[in-house]
Amino acid sequence: MASAIDSTDIVYKASIIHRTSPVASAALGRLLSATSMMGAMLKSKDASINLRVAGDGELGPVIAVADSFGNVKGYVSNPSCPSTHYDNGKLNVAEAVGKNGVLNVMRNLGSGEPYIGQIELSSGEIAEDIAAYYAQSEQIPTVCALGVLIDKDSSQVLLSGGLLIQLLPGADDNTITKLEENISKLESVTTMLAKGMSTLEMCKKALDGFEVEVLDEFEVKYVCGCSKEKIASLIESMPEEEIRDMIEKDHGAKAGCHFCNKTFEFSESDLQAILSKK
Ligand SMILES: [Zn+2]
Repeated sequence: MASAIDSTDIVYKASIIHRTSPVASAALGRLLSATSMMGAMLKSKDASINLRVAGDGELGPVIAVADSFGNVKGYVSNPSCPSTHYDNGKLNVAEAVGKNGVLNVMRNLGSGEPYIGQIELSSGEIAEDIAAYYAQSEQIPTVCALGVLIDKDSSQVLLSGGLLIQLLPGADDNTITKLEENISKLESVTTMLAKGMSTLEMCKKALDGFEVEVLDEFEVKYVCGCSKEKIASLIESMPEEEIRDMIEKDHGAKAGCHFCNKTFEFSESDLQAILSKK
């Protein structure tokens, strides 16, 4: 089974919202692409998935959340993390993330307890870590390729995409060998996008020699569903004394959203209204 994403618009938007440095755009972009594809694989409509890559590098934790339609949002703890490069000119994402750390995956299926998995980071380049997660936590042989192309002069996100290929249970050795052969010949995701290939063409290339059946194809976006009402209900769930403190000591409250950087202000009377509902 293969999924592919052209996440150029999503990662461009994220880079503008969070004013990310090149390496921060690359790391956040890769995680957003993977999380969107993993979200779109969830079966139930109300399901969501939350990925957190936390290494010991200067970038700090990178977080992405997607719904079951593949719509995604995310942020990185240190968006201005300095960028370093490999000898071949590629951004060194592994150094920024840090090789010692964990990848957490939390699947919320809309009802019941969330499913939580965690693995140690294997490379810090994110794609390999996602593949390792599926292999170790879910015993699903997986190939993951993620890429973000950034303009060297303007630091603008030019292209971004991803590919996730999984073997169905019971795949025989021939299938595995053939797939490995395809993957080894595959160009990078951003090269394929630069050539004008569609996500379907990318999947077909990865599955060359196999019969391809299109299960679904849809548009995905960077979406943050926050609102003043949602923050208000969070405040409502806080202890009464803390809300009183906000009114008497701070004469109001301000809350920011990590995902879209919007700030919501609550006046004393807003807070009184919240308090009266408790
Ligand atoms: Zn928001």
